[in-house]
Amino acid sequence: MTGEREHQALVVRAPGDVALVGRPPLEPRTGHLIVRPDLVGLCGTDLEIIDGRIDPAYIRYPVALGHEWTGVVAGDSPLAGQRVVVEGIIGCGHCRRCAAGQTNLCETYDEIGFTRDGAAAGEILVPATLAHPLGPAVAAQDAVLTEPAAVVYRGLVRAGVRPGSRVLVVGDGTIALLAVLLARLWSPAEVTMLGRRPEQAGLAASAGATAFTTNPPEAGYDLVIEAAGATSAVQAALALAGRGGTVLLLGLPPHGASVALAADDVVNNDLAILGSFSYTAAAWREVVALLNSGQLRPGRLISHRYPLAEWEQAVTTLRGAPGPRGKVLLTIGQDNERETR
Ligand SMILES: [Zn+2]
Ligand SMILES: [Zn+2]
Repeated sequence: MTGEREHQALVVRAPGDVALVGRPPLEPRTGHLIVRPDLVGLCGTDLEIIDGRIDPAYIRYPVALGHEWTGVVAGDSPLAGQRVVVEGIIGCGHCRRCAAGQTNLCETYDEIGFTRDGAAAGEILVPATLAHPLGPAVAAQDAVLTEPAAVVYRGLVRAGVRPGSRVLVVGDGTIALLAVLLARLWSPAEVTMLGRRPEQAGLAASAGATAFTTNPPEAGYDLVIEAAGATSAVQAALALAGRGGTVLLLGLPPHGASVALAADDVVNNDLAILGSFSYTAAAWREVVALLNSGQLRPGRLISHRYPLAEWEQAVTTLRGAPGPRGKVLLTIGQDNERETR
């Protein structure tokens, strides 16, 4: 036995059945990189995967969790030692959507942490073309938020944030906080956050919100971003947009839920209602450029970190720990690997 290192992966074997599972070392593969993740973010979608509440079209069990992450390239690649973030959506590269740059709409849905194993593991094998190297000045805690930042960034580009405009973000979780942080790049006059938990006010301020409230403000916003993923938040977002305004739906309400819509108001108020699914390769390039230039430092939104072995505590925190709650991370390090002799 030559000290081959087994690694552990946090696997959802089936809805409600989650465990740390020992895995043999990954085999190198042409066109791929082996990456050692060191920080992995968890989000509400991971809870939906764990609970089996996710639309079955977007998941394949068993699956290792982990679609928000950063790590360091391993093995004898020329990139070995390099910190990277890796696009999760693996476009086929030849359908009409991929050809048009709409990689989020590729006709063959394939995504790390959903239809193939994610990064909550000692090692992960990824297509080399999807890895984005980060400069040495970028901290891992900022890099780990690239995926949700790309989701938000793509939505904001789709909706358009005008300088001097009034923006309202509905929700107070990580996507909402990132929406505040990123919207400010376009210099709106105001970014108000309508949250549910008063404890989130401090995180909202650190993201750059000009106001935080738990009571619906007066309607009339140019852009309302729904980032809570709840039907009540969608309804609030639709009601709070001003005439000529845009409502951007970023959150993912429960599969199959529907919302009552006053259709005449949509017409009378000249509203644009947009959904935004995931991210494009272009959004990743933009977010990586913002990280590398130091213009985007989302690490301030991290509130909790747990070693991989304490994943149950991380999940409990994510489900509703009291107090301020931003991004919840798993940390993966030497303690996750053991010699198999
Ligand atoms: Zn996520
Ligand atoms: Zn495609």
